[in-house]
Amino acid sequence: MGKVEDAVKEIAEEISQEIQRELEWLRDSSGRPILATVEERLQTIDDLFRRRLLGGASRVLGNGYRGSQILCECKQWMKYMDDRERTILTILGPLTLRRSYYWCEACHASRVPLDEELGIVGEGQSHGVQMATALLCALLPNEKAMQVFEELHVPHVSEKESQRVTLAVGQRAMAEYEAEAKRFAEDHVAPSTDVRAHVPERLAVLMDGTTVHTDGSSHEAKVGAFYAFDGEGEATGQKTYVTGFRGVEDFRDLWDAEAQRWHLADVPNLAALCDGAAWTWRTVEDRCPPHTVQILDFYHGTEHLGDLAKTIWGEGSVKVKPWVEAQETRLLEGREDDFFQELRNWTTEGHWEAEGKKQLAYFEANRDRIHYKDYLARGYPIGSGVVESACKVIVGLREKQPGMRWRTDTAEAIAHLRAVYYSGRWPALRRRLSRHCKF
Ligand SMILES: [Zn+2]
Repeated sequence: MGKVEDAVKEIAEEISQEIQRELEWLRDSSGRPILATVEERLQTIDDLFRRRLLGGASRVLGNGYRGSQILCECKQWMKYMDDRERTILTILGPLTLRRSYYWCEACHASRVPLDEELGIVGEGQSHGVQMATALLCALLPNEKAMQVFEELHVPHVSEKESQRVTLAVGQRAMAEYEAEAKRFAEDHVAPSTDVRAHVPERLAVLMDGTTVHTDGSSHEAKVGAFYAFDGEGEATGQKTYVTGFRGVEDFRDLWDAEAQRWHLADVPNLAALCDGAAWTWRTVEDRCPPHTVQILDFYHGTEHLGDLAKTIWGEGSVKVKPWVEAQETRLLEGREDDFFQELRNWTTEGHWEAEGKKQLAYFEANRDRIHYKDYLARGYPIGSGVVESACKVIVGLREKQPGMRWRTDTAEAIAHLRAVYYSGRWPALRRRLSRHCKF
């Protein structure tokens, strides 16, 4: 039997003995142990198995020895020097490898064939550890993420290293989407990753922005959301998101690429819901087909009405809510003339004048996007916070917490990872990135 076969047999026997011993302990222990005790005891056995398995893997993988010398790129001979130990943190725990090291006296190059075979590059963590780190740190503040790893007995890097890994993974993931956006913008090549399997019958496309304090000043994170909806305007299935801390032009390309993943041009019923910012409507007009129905997100409209009401009667006044609701009703019932007449009433002289004119201008600019009665009758969504909650889910909940300070690149990388995760695309990203795990 070869050395490797011996090692495999030895380890398998050891592990099977451990299992037997543990089950016998369960059978023989005087007085039945409570489940928590059983769980705790089996956990320590699990840790032991992992160590045995990793030790076994290290023996089976060998050292990558290729003889006393190998040919160098410079055509001279590289000499075998010695075996060098290196420990890589894997999702099962530390894997220590003894790797044969070769050195070329002529050009001072070195090679470690085993590292090349196993695709070990960069820092001392496996792909599994890096992706788990990036996911948890995208979802939680780093310090909390470390606590979760501890609690779940998942081997993990230090808090400081987790920041580096998360940024690297986030930037790598972002670079993929950027490259696809650029290819589509410049050469009209449709994206090939994360493409939806079917053309939806009805699709809602959304855009919004939210301000985050990064690099010492305010930066706008832009967020796009996409979802299919049913005949009642209700979202069905997976929503997807794109985000970027960048100017309108760059963001539009990212948004556009995402729209292609949903086969935008072939969707029969398209609704674009936006908050009223000019850049969002320009994007819809430039990038969406002519049959797209533009809808001012009802939630944002309501917010604007609230601002006016608070100016008129004061924050917290009992008159605010009934007035806003009365205007909402007018819009939902299609009484748009009454609605505008009411707004005009508040553009007369008075402490409300400036705010009244501002909000009248806002709704006039969106005059053709507030036919809510008609939209509802046709089964389109009118927005009830999906646009707003996209900003919260992708950016706000993680990045707009008290006392947080961000670098723009980190904030963007983390927001992107959240967008990937909340779009149901994390497993696909993990698989794609395993091909180049140099972080
Ligand atoms: Zn050489």
